[in-house]
Amino acid sequence: MSLDVQALRAQFPILSRKVNDKPLVYLDNAATTQKPQAVLDAIMDFYTTTNANVHRGAHALSDEATRRFEKARDDVAAFINANDRKEVIWTAGTTEAINLVAKGLGQLLKAGDEVVVTEMEHHANLVTWQQACKVSGATLKVAPIFDSGELDTDAFTALLNTNTRLVAFPHVSNALGTLNPVKLLTAKAKKHGALVLVDGAQGIAHGGVDVQDIGCDFYAFSGHKLFGPTGTGVLWGRANVLQDWPVWLTGGEMIADVTYQDATWGELPNRLEAGTPNIAGAVGLAAAVNWFSALDTHAVQAHEKALLASAHEQADAFDGMRIVGTAPAKMGVMSFILDGIHPADVGYILDQQGVAIRTGDNCAQPLMKKFNIPGTARASFSIYNSLDEVDVLFSALRKAHMMLA
Ligand code: PLP
Repeated sequence: MSLDVQALRAQFPILSRKVNDKPLVYLDNAATTQKPQAVLDAIMDFYTTTNANVHRGAHALSDEATRRFEKARDDVAAFINANDRKEVIWTAGTTEAINLVAKGLGQLLKAGDEVVVTEMEHHANLVTWQQACKVSGATLKVAPIFDSGELDTDAFTALLNTNTRLVAFPHVSNALGTLNPVKLLTAKAKKHGALVLVDGAQGIAHGGVDVQDIGCDFYAFSGHKLFGPTGTGVLWGRANVLQDWPVWLTGGEMIADVTYQDATWGELPNRLEAGTPNIAGAVGLAAAVNWFSALDTHAVQAHEKALLASAHEQADAFDGMRIVGTAPAKMGVMSFILDGIHPADVGYILDQQGVAIRTGDNCAQPLMKKFNIPGTARASFSIYNSLDEVDVLFSALRKAHMMLA
């Protein structure tokens, strides 16, 4: 069954607006996705009918809010095939989820320990480990990638040894679109007894993520890149790892017993969720997950593949355009450079034509330095984009090239 893109688009109110007097062509989905009416309705409904704080209810509204909030956890757990609902920890996004792990690991690391990341990391999955290593005296090792943007898995494997405490890599690179063989990389790291964190920020919105199948210990993602609200995210972690994980945020909700001198921590998931959570956000994220799960995953992936294939085909035929990131396995993202034109100028001209893309270093400065470029322009696709919109992107690019090259 193929995806009915027009019917999907109709569920996203923002997609019918104009920008600069032109129909919006939204191709910045790797930065954040748009939200379907089902998500907007769920958030509105929560605030309209159920709003109260959770887990402390002496009244009916609080009980209802707690039920909706915890049901959201169930929905997300099912979505990623978590073994147990308490393995789903709410965070503000991928960045906070990675920090939760890194701040905890930072308390366990010592000199001689090693953490392995890749050259294609988003700053969230690089700077966080870099700083955890700095503070603890551990060593950060960076696995190289080929010029295509594909990970050099042999070099990655060569970095692993019995000192490796944690390995972290992206499911999909936000800057290059590279789809990493997460199951294979996890298995390699596990042979050395290392913990494995997958940065799923760009991997989650394409369907089919099964954390048990991947075999990792942590999987981090953001709600806003998955048709859900900003300020939401998830750290999934194995219960046996998370149950003793050093806490990094302390306060209400996460404690068991408190005296003036000391405190003990509660059980999962609460022990890692200090303070009032983003309750409406969790409800909105669950609505997004349920909305997305109702789509046919094969159709979703086939449609996204067709969008990227069309973009690559047109780029190959475009004199003066170079794709940055040509790994054989890619998803969702086409980063590129128009010869002699700064990416920011490309972005400006496209915006004038209603086409929204990202330009800049893609939160991956070391990667841009490796490729010796200031940054890229990046078009990123989602399920509601049409093949016609890819054509609009390219006619806008031809215009930019004509004006500026
Ligand atoms: N990791 C990757 C691969 C990303 O693409 C992003 C955001 O673009 C992040 C981490 C950080 O996500 P957030 O800003 O939602 O915390």
